[in-house]
Amino acid sequence: MVNEPTAVAAKGSDFRFPDAPEEEKYSVCVHCGFCLEVCPTYQAWGDENHSPRGRVYLIKACAEGELPLDESVIDPVFTCLDCRACETVCPSGVQVGALVEEARGQVFYARDAEGKRDPVMRFFLRGVFPRPARLRIIRRLMRFYQKSGLQKLARSTGVLRVLPPQVREMEDVIPEIGRGPAIDVLPETIAPQGERKATAALFTGCVMDVFFSDVNEATARVLVRNGVEVRVPKDQICCGALQVHAGDRDMAREMAKRNIEVFERAGADYVAINAAGCGAALKEYPELFRDDPAWRDRAVQFSSRVRDISQLLVEVGFDPPKAELPMAVTYHDACHLFHAQKIRYEPRSLLKSVPGLTLCEMPDSDRCCGSAGIYNLTHPAMANELLERKMDDVPEGVDAIVMGNPGCMMQIRLGVKRRNQPLRVMHTVEVLDLAYRREGSR
Ligand code: SF4
Ligand code: SF4
Repeated sequence: MVNEPTAVAAKGSDFRFPDAPEEEKYSVCVHCGFCLEVCPTYQAWGDENHSPRGRVYLIKACAEGELPLDESVIDPVFTCLDCRACETVCPSGVQVGALVEEARGQVFYARDAEGKRDPVMRFFLRGVFPRPARLRIIRRLMRFYQKSGLQKLARSTGVLRVLPPQVREMEDVIPEIGRGPAIDVLPETIAPQGERKATAALFTGCVMDVFFSDVNEATARVLVRNGVEVRVPKDQICCGALQVHAGDRDMAREMAKRNIEVFERAGADYVAINAAGCGAALKEYPELFRDDPAWRDRAVQFSSRVRDISQLLVEVGFDPPKAELPMAVTYHDACHLFHAQKIRYEPRSLLKSVPGLTLCEMPDSDRCCGSAGIYNLTHPAMANELLERKMDDVPEGVDAIVMGNPGCMMQIRLGVKRRNQPLRVMHTVEVLDLAYRREGSR
């Protein structure tokens, strides 16, 4: 299933593998520094090497053979959150996220070639996330752990102290695992209510369906309520975003091919996704096939149908809920929704349509919460600093923090728990679903 990387001729550069950072991406940086002030790692450390401009410079120097691919390059490349805040302000359109991901690919394959693999990381990237059957087993084990009393026992005996602190804290905020993953619970096709406006194949995701399958079920209900026929392709797999972020581009490509085939067969107008990180990865599938024209064409076709749930609802024309939902909420912009997909207006439009709901904006709502894939596990100090800043920015008096990404939901649940605040952490579509469901009880 997995292609081994093939070394290619290098002209003095340590970027020796396919998919190396492209000159057309790094050469457009004009060194203006507009990106410095929005970069969370530069804000925290004030170190040019850990800024977008610095990272682009290091990647360029390595590509041109002026620097070796050693820790002086590798560390800044991996401390990047891939939050893309720099891309939003960059006047030259430098694709910092893509450059960082491509550079990580070179590190991944260099370590592979040198036999310096990280077995744990490799097990999760290749042995767990691409395999739905194993994800189901993990989900079942976690549900058993929660329901059987084992969780209470583990917490009361203090046995969890053997876990690293960041994993222990995450264990504490895992939501209650529901009856089954939505991919199994939902029927293959769900007819729309009223006139059929469109068809959408639902991308259920891995983290979303393990931890927040109720959000996937809410997504299907909201689409159906708005005249969209929902199809649930049963043989889809994880999008491959974590693999791209870690540099395992061969694995990501294999996963992308599988999903492209599956969603071509589903034949819907749209591919609907409610996880910002996955949505960005699906829309960027063509990047993975830049040297493979046939697959690139298919990836372009596939990506053109991908819509975040908020984007899709606005595009097809959603019905504003009729029942009152008296809540005050604030909205956190997930980086991969705001910066990577440029989706800002649509979630707010959905929230503002709910009668009785007050949207209280938080300052710097688009600043990363520190989740960033598995960054909160690999770089806990920076992730914690960003989480603290995010929680400081939550306006007083709100009932819920709303967002559109499962990673942010886990991270902000942790922030709420630490501060012992009576706040709900909700997905945008859950708010809409709640409002629609109140229509029936009016
Ligand atoms: S990445 Fe963009 S904003 Fe940053 S220095 Fe280069 S051109 Fe300027
Ligand atoms: S993606 Fe985020 S962390 Fe990385 S360089 Fe850009 S702003 Fe900084």
